[in-house]
Amino acid sequence: MALYIVPAKCISCGACWADCNVEAIEIVHHKYAINVEKCVDCSACQYVCPNDAIFYDKDTAIESVNAEIAAAKEKVAAAKAAAEKVDSKDEEAVGKANDAVTAAEKALAEAEAALASIN
Ligand code: SF4
Ligand code: SF4
Repeated sequence: MALYIVPAKCISCGACWADCNVEAIEIVHHKYAINVEKCVDCSACQYVCPNDAIFYDKDTAIESVNAEIAAAKEKVAAAKAAAEKVDSKDEEAVGKANDAVTAAEKALAEAEAALASIN
């Protein structure tokens, strides 16, 4: 067994890194990650994480990220549908709608990247 940090949930606070007694938490590509070779499964990091970003097994982590991906896809679809209804002559509204689509697509891309990092 090993613990996994889900990047999409991690807010990079460093609390887990500070609490790990065996230096199993490393920064990989600007994100905190658990080195499963060093981790001794003490769960200390999981207790201190303020954002429930650490999972005790891979399947639970994958399940969580898949739920995030599904929710993000729904948000992208909703933002696109809302953008289509905006009056094209209203530049401010069009700008806001496009920003909402971009933000939703960014969240989806992050969730998909999180899944790739766990698998
Ligand atoms: S479970 Fe314990 S050993 Fe493993 S990364 Fe977390 S704090 Fe470190
Ligand atoms: S404690 Fe949680 S939110 Fe903070 S760096 Fe670690 S995994 Fe990320």
